[in-house]
Amino acid sequence: KMVRDIESKPVIITHPTDPVKEVALKLVENNINHLPVVDSRGKLAGIVTSWDIADAVARGKTKLEEVMTRKVIIAREDESVDIIARRIDKNNISGLPIVDKDSKVKGMITAEDISRLIGKK
Ligand code: SAM
Repeated sequence: KMVRDIESKPVIITHPTDPVKEVALKLVENNINHLPVVDSRGKLAGIVTSWDIADAVARGKTKLEEVMTRKVIIAREDESVDIIARRIDKNNISGLPIVDKDSKVKGMITAEDISRLIGKK
């Protein structure tokens, strides 16, 4: 199975200047843990997780750019799900943005998606 075979949900994004509170609401309302952060040209600029939002609250940070992770570990559509599972394990993370050649975000792949795929077999 390849990354592109994972059932795709509509991709929800955030921007570096978004208030932390707004991002928190987005995570809760969509029942998700990861959000790709996209710049004004539509390119991947970072990633934010509920952990980062907890960090923002703990340290009184209000803008997303103060807490987002800029060095993002990504997945490509033509990679195998096996490779992504290993990447998740190696980096102690649970979700990767799926990105194309122009750094445009196509979706997210999470440990949950991979468990679901294996559970269906
Ligand atoms: N183990 C937990 C998990 O899987 O989410 C939390 C640990 S992880 C080290 C927490 C940090 O990783 C957060 O600051 C988050 O922004 C960052 N992170 C999550 N996914 C990432 C990814 N795909 N690339 C780079 N950093 C990521």
